[in-house]
Amino acid sequence: MSGPAGPRLDDVFAHVDANRASFVERLAGWVRVPSVSATGQGMPEAAGHARDLVAAAGLEATVAETAGWPLVLGHRPGPPGSPTVLIYGHYDVQPPDPLDAWTSPPFEPEVRDGRLYGRGGADNKGQHLAQLLAIESLLATRGELPCTVKVLLDGEEEIGSPHLAGFARRERERLAADLVVWSDGPVDPAGGWRLVFGVRGIASFELRARGANRSLHSGNWGGVVPNPLWTLVHLLATMRDRDGRITVEGFGDEVEPLGAAERAALELLPVDLEAVKADLGLEELDAPAGRGFAERLAAWPTLTINGLHGGYGGQGTQTVLPSEAVAKCDVRLVHAQRAADVYDKLEAHVRRHAPGVELVRQGSMEPSRTPMGSAFTAPIRAGMAAAQGADPLLVPVLGGSLPLHVFTGVLGLPTFGIPLGNPDQANHAPNENLDLERFHTGIRTAAAVLAHLGASKLPFMGPASSGTMAG
Ligand SMILES: [Zn+2]
Repeated sequence: MSGPAGPRLDDVFAHVDANRASFVERLAGWVRVPSVSATGQGMPEAAGHARDLVAAAGLEATVAETAGWPLVLGHRPGPPGSPTVLIYGHYDVQPPDPLDAWTSPPFEPEVRDGRLYGRGGADNKGQHLAQLLAIESLLATRGELPCTVKVLLDGEEEIGSPHLAGFARRERERLAADLVVWSDGPVDPAGGWRLVFGVRGIASFELRARGANRSLHSGNWGGVVPNPLWTLVHLLATMRDRDGRITVEGFGDEVEPLGAAERAALELLPVDLEAVKADLGLEELDAPAGRGFAERLAAWPTLTINGLHGGYGGQGTQTVLPSEAVAKCDVRLVHAQRAADVYDKLEAHVRRHAPGVELVRQGSMEPSRTPMGSAFTAPIRAGMAAAQGADPLLVPVLGGSLPLHVFTGVLGLPTFGIPLGNPDQANHAPNENLDLERFHTGIRTAAAVLAHLGASKLPFMGPASSGTMAG
């Protein structure tokens, strides 16, 4: 796929191959440093270690303080006229609990059956380290990088990146680039490598209903005192109908259909629907029927009731009339939807249908989408194919959420995801692991992508370029 016109890569690939064992050692050393942003375990030391890794790769490395855990930045200029690539990753990890479910301790990495087990190995230390080792390998073989490279390692991704957007707004100049590349999450469930152009957003909220000032006897008071659980059940039923349509007024106004290229790419994503249903013990997918599997995750918003709580849920019976009830919900947002606007519409809906119910806004993240027709798509694809031996699957939008709106929205940059993790990486769970063959190919991939971007003769607008989609 790199063809006769593609840049030479054999020297870099040979270097990566020759250093396989020492690169795995480097990964083990990184996983050995705890960095749990939720509890703070190891965080100050981890920021220093991340800075050292960025410096060891050959970049000028700095730690940038925020109101939360610091960011780690790197920078190395490439040849004049080459694009500037901003590489995003995160050095914080999820809490390792429950500890007794791990075969080997989470911060004592162990290699078994070609995988490195340890918290953060896949999410995200192995993935951004692959990028850094690619940079190191390019410098070791050529003495210079094919592009200008900037690195941004987040210390708060696992807690929702609360300070990332503010930093990007304040430090536009430092983060100025032509495009963003990130590696996180898994390859396709069937094993194919994929190039990701977007993610859905999320807006979480709680609905709180109150009845009497205390719980009461359902016989002595039933029929007299209103029940907040019924209030929530009726309210929720006005928000989504049996056919799966979200019936909150104005909710879908900003939902734009996917373009032809996006629809065509979704068609090519392999999914064995019968196997999925068998695995989940389901006869049918959620309503509406007749919507494609990949299209459901990429093109449509959702309203999910995460939990409905109140009254008695224990053994046997308790004839109680509860005094309060809570529904925890999340909305997954697509393309042009924005969290604040969706919250406003939800609040207006609640005021209209159940005025006594309180809506409490919780965490949110905007959706992000880079057009597949971006000029950077072709060189990235070619680089991936050169390293991986096959053209990658193209994923217009992932169902989950990442803080990529900071790049596409705040900085206005086209943003590309190249996940390196095995599908069974068990991220956020016990026995998290990274397939070392994926890690190795991931290093080759990151190097090939930079080489192809550097060799592409694209008209760069320079660091002031305003990218593709603002707002
Ligand atoms: Zn994670």
